[in-house]
Amino acid sequence: METIKIRWYSRAGQGGITAASFLANIAAENNFFVQSFSEFGAEKRGAPVTVFSRISEKKIESIHPVLKPNLLVIMDMTLLKSGEILEEEIFSGVDQNCKILINAENNNFSFSLKNNEIFAVPASKIAIAELGKNIPNIAMLGAILKLFPSFNFDIFAEKISEKLKKIFPKKIFDGNLKAFYRGAKEFFKITSSDKEKKITKTKKNIVKKNWKNLPMGGNISSGNSDDYCTGNWSPQKINFLPKKCIQCGMCFALCPDGAIKIKDKKIVGVDKKICKKCGICVNHCPVKALEID
Ligand code: SF4
Ligand code: SF4
Repeated sequence: METIKIRWYSRAGQGGITAASFLANIAAENNFFVQSFSEFGAEKRGAPVTVFSRISEKKIESIHPVLKPNLLVIMDMTLLKSGEILEEEIFSGVDQNCKILINAENNNFSFSLKNNEIFAVPASKIAIAELGKNIPNIAMLGAILKLFPSFNFDIFAEKISEKLKKIFPKKIFDGNLKAFYRGAKEFFKITSSDKEKKITKTKKNIVKKNWKNLPMGGNISSGNSDDYCTGNWSPQKINFLPKKCIQCGMCFALCPDGAIKIKDKKIVGVDKKICKKCGICVNHCPVKALEID
């Protein structure tokens, strides 16, 4: 069996690291040699995360990030659109033999690969239906296991079920297990005509800088949140209810991204371009003048 090399792109909170480590642990229990490690910048919910996995029947000697993957997993397509990770970086080392698995419900995506086998799984939709939350990792894992016939799907599925059962209460366990089997069943191949239709240039520079381009060592000359438009990290939105607000300033003090807008010394709302919907302000507002939608 050729070494399986997977490069995953996700956001903190979507469970990319957890899915990769589930896969590695179960493969190790089934006598494979494995690696799973990650790379991320600011440790904030919603921040881009890259994970590297290797699974092999032979001892793995490489210890560097996966440079030439045979599976690229993109758990959040907004990463591609926003430029938080540059398209060149996501597709670096991707040759024609590399399969691509994206989290998408339909063919409404755009990237510039023509010859690779591209698969999609509606993992976020499944996760929201089964768990009530956009945590697409386990649905994607179901599809990943189907993509590699060298994994015995039934054995891996049983192990995943055991692991989930140990970690989660029954309701979340049930939801995750359903998401896993739905991911394995509902993933589909993007046909070449779809690809031809959809290939367009990815919008670049919506985010002016990604975290790797920001000045190092705290020497931030231009301010980072202004440059870093984190508002597209979540499909949710924060509603500000001015009539309820008592102007305590708690949200302004706690927002990690400076997204609370002030005018004439008054809180007047939330900057949609920057607010990443972490929910901190909502949880701490004493009068429920902020709501997450
Ligand atoms: S949800 Fe609230 S605390 Fe979080 S980024 Fe948005 S405004 Fe700031
Ligand atoms: S925490 Fe709530 S009440 Fe206080 S300023 Fe913010 S929105 Fe207004």
